[in-house]
Amino acid sequence: MTLRTMALPPRMAVPTPPEPAPAPDLLVLNGGLADAMGFPADLRTVEVLTGAAPVPGASPVAAAYAGHQFGGFVPQLGDGRAHLIWEGGEGPDHWEVQLKGSGRTPFSRGGDGRAWLGPVLREYLVSEAMHALRVPTTRALAASATGAEVLREAGPLPGAVLARAAPSFLRVGTFQYFAVRGDAEALRLLLRVGTERHHPDADGPSGFLRAVVAAQARLVARWMSLGFIHGVMNTDNAHVGGLTIDYGPCAFMDAYHPARVFSSIDRGGRYAYANQPGIAAWNCAQLATALLPLEEDREGAIPAYQAAVDGFAPLYQAEWLRLFRAKLGLGAEEEGDLALTEGLLTAMAEGRADFTNAFRGLAGGAARDAFDDPAPFDAWAGDWKERRRRDPLGPDEAAALMRARSPSVIPRNHRIEQAIEAAAGGDLSPFRALHAALADPYGPAPEGYDAPPRPEEVVEATFCGT
Ligand code: AMP
Ligand code: MG
Ligand code: MG
Repeated sequence: MTLRTMALPPRMAVPTPPEPAPAPDLLVLNGGLADAMGFPADLRTVEVLTGAAPVPGASPVAAAYAGHQFGGFVPQLGDGRAHLIWEGGEGPDHWEVQLKGSGRTPFSRGGDGRAWLGPVLREYLVSEAMHALRVPTTRALAASATGAEVLREAGPLPGAVLARAAPSFLRVGTFQYFAVRGDAEALRLLLRVGTERHHPDADGPSGFLRAVVAAQARLVARWMSLGFIHGVMNTDNAHVGGLTIDYGPCAFMDAYHPARVFSSIDRGGRYAYANQPGIAAWNCAQLATALLPLEEDREGAIPAYQAAVDGFAPLYQAEWLRLFRAKLGLGAEEEGDLALTEGLLTAMAEGRADFTNAFRGLAGGAARDAFDDPAPFDAWAGDWKERRRRDPLGPDEAAALMRARSPSVIPRNHRIEQAIEAAAGGDLSPFRALHAALADPYGPAPEGYDAPPRPEEVVEATFCGT
């Protein structure tokens, strides 16, 4: 029997009820996901999905976790505005539903425990887009307005609650919380939950570590292949199942640049696009440090732990190259493919190319149009065409491969901002249209949804003012 999160000791999962919303209004419900995870039909109500009505037999909890935030260790973070309200299913088919923005918890510190409509709709759109893009992620089950006002720097904003779902919400920071407290019993319980739900074949703490390293390497390679910037890769936002979690100041790039940052609080560029694989490896090293106390012979276990963390780079590089080879329409492997790929990325940075449209355009001959200055592309394209001629894939097969790895539609920042602005004014139709356009990202783009922002539409930063 799978160990339930609500059955964990109170120091790990603190019983605490959501604060009911004054006038809850269900904006969107993901019925397909609810069916897939066995979420009961009688619980699909705005009252349950905002925390106003309890789930019979369940005791809502807030989870404890710590984390390195921008490199500095914070020993206590935890669910400061999230409540786990439901869980069901076994092993990797176990699902949890968590409300976010559902009120204060013992981990709230100075925060109000609330969320406003903007980040709730952003997470709904981007996490479901990630799923459609076949990137591992937490899922969005529902978004509701609360009827309450939330006070933020910009002034009073409409409050909202997101219901999100995943097999677990276990972070590297969850392990760190108990490691720094010397709580081996809690660590063993976490190891059991993480293994059952995410890495059922992993053997012991070192096997679990290797599985997490591999899952993180695959995840970040996917992000890189899509121009995705997470924005806050703190260890409390690093999921041990290799899921994308915490859609705060995240964004898909329009114009490609390796140093691109969106988060308004990331002034040093720690979480810039090109830094993401190195940060993910660093986060895995923090997990290694947290798991090592579970070894009877700690000194003797160090080489295996070091090897597990060092395994990140080769796993990541292999996956990255596999994904980008497909984006270039290459079926065979040649020594020069890495340099060819890097050559395109350099040309894209020099020629200010739209990341998504440049790659998608390779399949249909329109890549050049995605460049502000096409000269660097022209200089590169000859090598690519020659390499393509040597490749065993015919033109149609190559185009199909490219289209399967390079989407036409991504959740572009300016579209998200437009959808949020309209929704805050009571009009959900741009949100719904964008959500629908993102459902089939590898198909042809619905009218206008592949357009980069016009200069006046460009969004330079996404804010943590959540
Ligand atoms: P994040 O930046 O979203 O990863 O959150 C970092 C920490 O701040 C977590 O412990 C959150 O639960 C907490 N937090 C974020 N926003 C709020 C809020 N409005 N009220 C209380 N806690 C919050
Ligand atoms: Mg977080
Ligand atoms: Mg956040």
